[in-house]
Amino acid sequence: MTTNDNSPTTNPPDFAAADRLRPIEELANSGNLETVATYIVDATRRINARVADTVQVLLDSIKFDLRMDRWLEVHHTRRTVDPMLPSDELRDVVILLCAMGRMGGAEGEVAQRYAALAVDHARWLAASAWQASTLDEKAVVRRIEQRARIARIFATGWAALAGGMKSDYEAAPTTTYAMALGAEIEAALAPRAVLPEAESRQEEAILDDGWRRRIDALYGSGKLGVGYVAAGRGWHVLVEDALEQIDASLLPDEREAFRVSDVKEKYGTLRIYTDNAPDLVDPIIEVAERRSALTCDRCGDYGRVGGNGWLACRCGRHEQR
Ligand SMILES: [Zn+2]
Repeated sequence: MTTNDNSPTTNPPDFAAADRLRPIEELANSGNLETVATYIVDATRRINARVADTVQVLLDSIKFDLRMDRWLEVHHTRRTVDPMLPSDELRDVVILLCAMGRMGGAEGEVAQRYAALAVDHARWLAASAWQASTLDEKAVVRRIEQRARIARIFATGWAALAGGMKSDYEAAPTTTYAMALGAEIEAALAPRAVLPEAESRQEEAILDDGWRRRIDALYGSGKLGVGYVAAGRGWHVLVEDALEQIDASLLPDEREAFRVSDVKEKYGTLRIYTDNAPDLVDPIIEVAERRSALTCDRCGDYGRVGGNGWLACRCGRHEQR
């Protein structure tokens, strides 16, 4: 596939990564409503066509018994096709939709249209996972679901951005900002189960130790390299969710050098430190850390960070006094 042929309406502009935003921002500031609208329509078609193509290739690769891992490795690393591919283009569309909103004074409508686009994208990926599941290829399903989940985090963030939501991330680059907002919303919506109280400190220690052994067996040396994990019982499910998702998202060559170096609490929230993590791991950790800021580390119920001197995230029952 050449990136530089001469059909401008069907190929995305081939901007170098660092310069990619500039032409979009120029277009957004041009005040030319018609050009902006044309770009949005073209880009939306392109995104849908490319997602459809990707899904088709995925399904074909299963049908012809090609290894999914191999397929992803080749296409992902060469960046010719990426199941998560519309990230940059979707972002461009959001920027332009916002610009259109400014031009037309219709911000509510812009947010609505973008949210619909984002939902469509996540739906495409989820549908492809469902189709793959009928072919009984568990690894394939997990990989696609994982990418759908991450696409949804970005999509949610972009939708929030388009809706004019503000947070403390404003100074960060647009993509980071969208990811953090999406993670914040995902974290707030995550389901939770409240743990029963342990009978004694001794029972609590036994439960904690059992969990640590479990994590070591599932994700210890030779797997994700997770060493000693320090997290309150209320956060165990957050840590497990994150490790399970990281495990599902790694490509074979990424796994070689990857390592979870530390899992611990700091200033009242969970921290997961890694070595040699590919980009897809960032949103997973972001969600886990944000969930921890809303989850009691003792019992898993809704909580908030507080305390005098020693910060902890606690529910009403376990609040520090
Ligand atoms: Zn609690």
